[in-house]
Amino acid sequence: MEKTEEEWKKELTPEEYRVLREGGTEAPFTGAFVDNHETGMYTCKACGATLFSSDAKFDSKSGWPSFTDPAVAENIGTRSDDSLGMHRTEVYCKNCGGHLGHLFDDGPSDKGGKRYCINSVCLAFEPGK
Ligand SMILES: [Zn+2]
Repeated sequence: MEKTEEEWKKELTPEEYRVLREGGTEAPFTGAFVDNHETGMYTCKACGATLFSSDAKFDSKSGWPSFTDPAVAENIGTRSDDSLGMHRTEVYCKNCGGHLGHLFDDGPSDKGGKRYCINSVCLAFEPGK
């Protein structure tokens, strides 16, 4: 999916643009989906690609929606992020290139130990699928 930054600016809210296109981070415990316990699928706010299932969501106490695994592995990419003086692994949507959050190794050990720490503002929720 190829869109210019001008097109993204028109389609996204300023906060969505800041996080998805500029790699920003929403403030913890402010996002719409931190405490969402409903069954459904989380999709990319920018392009609609299926990203995470509620089955993989867990309460990490971090203040951001956290998942142990992608629902559709091909839709999710990771790359090294050395910004802000930290070495982290960025998580992004492979379909549109949008920034989603970061991947950490402190997830539940009985579920693979991964924590996909995702900004709510990057996600849309489709209940019951
Ligand atoms: Zn996307």
